[in-house]
Amino acid sequence: MFNKLLIANRGEIALRIVRACQELGVRSVAVYSDADAQAPHVREADEAVHIGPAPSSESYLKGDRIVEVAKQVAAEATHPGYGFLSEREWFARLVRDSGLVFIGPPAEAIARMGSKIAARQLVIAAGVPVVPGTTEPLRDAAEAAEVAERFGYPVLLKAAAGGGGKGMRVVREARELASSLDAARREALNAFGDDAVYVEKYIEGPRHVEIQVLADQHGTVLSLGERECSVQRRHQKMIEEAPSVAVSPDLRRRMGETAVAAARAAGYVNAGTCEFLLDKNGEFYFLEMNTRLQVEHPVTEFVTGIDIVQWQIRIAAGERLPFPADMTPRGWAIECRITSEDPANGFLPSTGRIEYLHVPSGPGVRWDGGVAAGTTVGLSYDPMLAKLIVWGATRDDAVARMHRALTELTIVGVETSREFHLRVMEDADFRRGDIEIQWLERRLPELIGASPDAARVRAAAIAAALLADRDRHARRGNPASAPGTDATPGGGRGAMDPWIIAARRDGVR
Ligand code: ADP
Repeated sequence: MFNKLLIANRGEIALRIVRACQELGVRSVAVYSDADAQAPHVREADEAVHIGPAPSSESYLKGDRIVEVAKQVAAEATHPGYGFLSEREWFARLVRDSGLVFIGPPAEAIARMGSKIAARQLVIAAGVPVVPGTTEPLRDAAEAAEVAERFGYPVLLKAAAGGGGKGMRVVREARELASSLDAARREALNAFGDDAVYVEKYIEGPRHVEIQVLADQHGTVLSLGERECSVQRRHQKMIEEAPSVAVSPDLRRRMGETAVAAARAAGYVNAGTCEFLLDKNGEFYFLEMNTRLQVEHPVTEFVTGIDIVQWQIRIAAGERLPFPADMTPRGWAIECRITSEDPANGFLPSTGRIEYLHVPSGPGVRWDGGVAAGTTVGLSYDPMLAKLIVWGATRDDAVARMHRALTELTIVGVETSREFHLRVMEDADFRRGDIEIQWLERRLPELIGASPDAARVRAAAIAAALLADRDRHARRGNPASAPGTDATPGGGRGAMDPWIIAARRDGVR
């Protein structure tokens, strides 16, 4: 096992990796930008090194600087988390060429799966079903029109280098094609520096179902089963669960074998995910392989009992996977992404200082967070503050538990997606598992139009209490002791008991 590992990331995922290191007895080194000097991942790591100003192009994306730091602190390995440098072939190569271990797939496997077009060609050759479409970049609008006619409208224009739903355009009629192609190209060029775009048949009403794969250095490649990620807004996941109501044991086995075949075709090692669309007839089509740890990995951890991050590190250190090939998920897990976005305001990013944070707990509840009371949320990074994950014996139990946990969650200082998630947990379609990738966009106006709940009123009461409390401390000349979390002695909730008692008396909660 390694003695020391450098984490080339921030926020909740950096803290997640710190925790895995602690449990494995590996020393962890955090890196941080100006904006993150007080961040939890910096506080919890064994060492922390400042790497630059807030913009990620000058800090978390500075691969050469990060490798330099890793060498200075004598780290033997580096974990890139997700986003930032995690899927940059050049970074994986640089780490390796510097004599360090990259906790992830070989640079060659990242390259093979990095372009959606190249990945399609690779997996087609391995017998993997893909969404009908082209396997070469489009030359011009005339070719696009010819291809679209062949597959039939609607079609989806997709950036070869795409990610995060960028460079994607649905085209429903021929007359929209030329302008959509221009728009997709422009967006792809801006976001990825590559304007190659290809065509896929647009599948109506499928589910997004993905398979978690683990592969060791000794030739074992395993499927850890599926995650259902159909609750999406603008092609981005909001809520994920494992298993999926739409996947039978037989389908799980077939999708698992397909994902393993795709991973083998890429020469894959470490944790990776094959994303599929599952249509209403139970046919599934490969979309892409994400050559990194996924945001939603915890739901798989809950139902398999396997610590995926620890196993990423163990695999990189040369250990063999000891798990059987046919795993049956146990119970049900759901994850909600808690973002600093205001659902009532078109999910506009919200910024500010987190004045108060009460984290849910109790049976079956996991909080993977990257913020604390006192953290300032700005616009430099992704708006995801934390992930709330629950486990229940059945799907109904998990939904009820998520609702309970979301009700406990209190964040004062920035708007969050919490209430949106509450509304989804109350929704009859969601409760039946009757969801597909376009479901949320259709239902969103109704879901966020609902009235504020009791917990929001409670948050307002706490906010008022905090301000009063801070004033009181300021008058005593002791501003530092004002805000805090429940876990902070002398701060936080103790100071506002009267408010909570008053709120309860008034029937708020
Ligand atoms: P990105 O890499 O940008 O995330 P993906 O290829 O993974 O792009 O697709 C993101 C989402 O877009 C999918 O989860 C799905 O909701 C939707 N999508 C992608 N391809 C299709 C398709 N051919 N038909 C319908 N929806 C699609």
